[in-house]
This record gives sequence, C-alpha cells and structure tokens, in this order.
Amino acid sequence: MADAALFTPEDLEAGERLVLRPWQFVKGVVALDGLPDDGWTEVAFAGRSNVGKSSLINAMVRHGGLARTSNTPGRTQELNFFKPYDDPLYLVDMPGYGFAKAPQDKVETWTALIRAYLAGRPTLRRVFVLVDSRHGIKPPDRDIMKMLDATAVPYQIVLTKADKITVPELAAVKAKTEAELSSHPAAFPIVLTTSSEKGSGMEDLRATIAALLKN
Ligand code: GDP
Repeated sequence: MADAALFTPEDLEAGERLVLRPWQFVKGVVALDGLPDDGWTEVAFAGRSNVGKSSLINAMVRHGGLARTSNTPGRTQELNFFKPYDDPLYLVDMPGYGFAKAPQDKVETWTALIRAYLAGRPTLRRVFVLVDSRHGIKPPDRDIMKMLDATAVPYQIVLTKADKITVPELAAVKAKTEAELSSHPAAFPIVLTTSSEKGSGMEDLRATIAALLKN
C-alpha cells in the first residue's frame, strides 16, 4: 500500500507511468570520464551488499532481470546506468558497500569513484540509501551519509525487507531512523519502507522519482 499522506492519486499515477515501462541497461561506468554527459536527471540507489538493492530495483520497475546485470562478476564495482526508453532520466545502480571480505584496494577504488561522482554531479537529484529494516542504520551507512552531507547531494533512506519484521518493529525502526536523520543536513526527513518480496512501498518510490523529474 502507498502512504496516502505522502502522495496524491495523481502523483502515484505519474509514478506508474514513468517507472512501469521497459528500461534498458546503458553502461557500466568505472571512471569519471565514462559518465553520460547529456544532462539528464539522475536518481541513484546505494546500500550495503545484500541489503536487497537488486531486488528493490527489479520490483520497482517490475522487470525481474533488470538489475541482475550489476551483480555479474566484474560489474559490481561499476556505476550501472539504466534508462526508460523515452524519458530523460537515468537510474544509477551504485556498487554495494560494506562487504567485509572486499580487498582494501577495491574499497579504495570504489570510494574514490563514488566520492568524485557525488562531488561533481549536479544532475544527481536524489540518492536512495537502502537500509535493511532488521538492522537499521549501521556504520558503513553512516560513512556514505557523511559523504552525501559533505557533497550536499540530497538523499533519502529506504528501509528494505520490511516483511521480515513485525509492523510495530517496522514503525519503531522507521521512527529511530528518522530521528537520526535530523542531524544530517542533506537527508530527506521521511523514510520510505519497502518489501520487494511483497511489493510494498513501490508506489511511493515510483511517485518520488516522478516528482523529482517533474520539478
Ligand atoms: P543486493 O546485494 O543489495 O543487490 O541484494 P539482493 O537484491 O541480491 O538481495 C539479497 C538477498 O535478500 C536475496 O536473498 C533476496 O532474495 C533477499 N531479499 C531482497 N529483498 C527482500 C525482501 O523485500 N524481502 C525478503 N524477505 N527478502 C529479500
């Protein structure tokens, strides 16, 4: 169910029109000079490895295989760009972070690319930072939130896997997360709750993206 307090029926409809359509993989970017330069609006998805990022992107666009591309070996350290066929919009699947076994040099390469991308991308309108609703915000999430605050890139926390906890537990983690956000200047104050398994929260996510493109 959509959160009726957040969006009008027209917003929700605009979200469906924009997001529920065929998307295509455009490119995987490993260095700044590979970034698209057409000035299109971008929304990005970030989160710890295994947070449910691929599942969420696939559920949001209702295209089971879309984000799989980013999980194939060799693709995981890239910024993966997708576009809907006929709108000036990119969805950017950022590499998962906080993977304990990642070699140090990989982590440094990733951090340098992400920092440079976030610092110099005026077309990037929002980063959705995915957080597992069972765990809440963890230190690796705080690292990227600090980076986003420092680069003044607007971001919004999206709780994933909401079906894995009870409704009161979800309400509690949402409230706790929103309380923490008050000290983060670039954070959007409202946290979205989602389950890719159940499809919940997807309407809100679609409407949020449509609203960003409209403005
Ligand atoms: P990624 O590494 O962040 O792209 O994570 P994936 O999308 O590959 O998901 C990691 C694991 O979590 C997989 O086993 C998924 O089936 C599972 N998962 C993802 N989203 C959900 C969800 O909403 N509910 C449940 N129960 N499991 C999920």
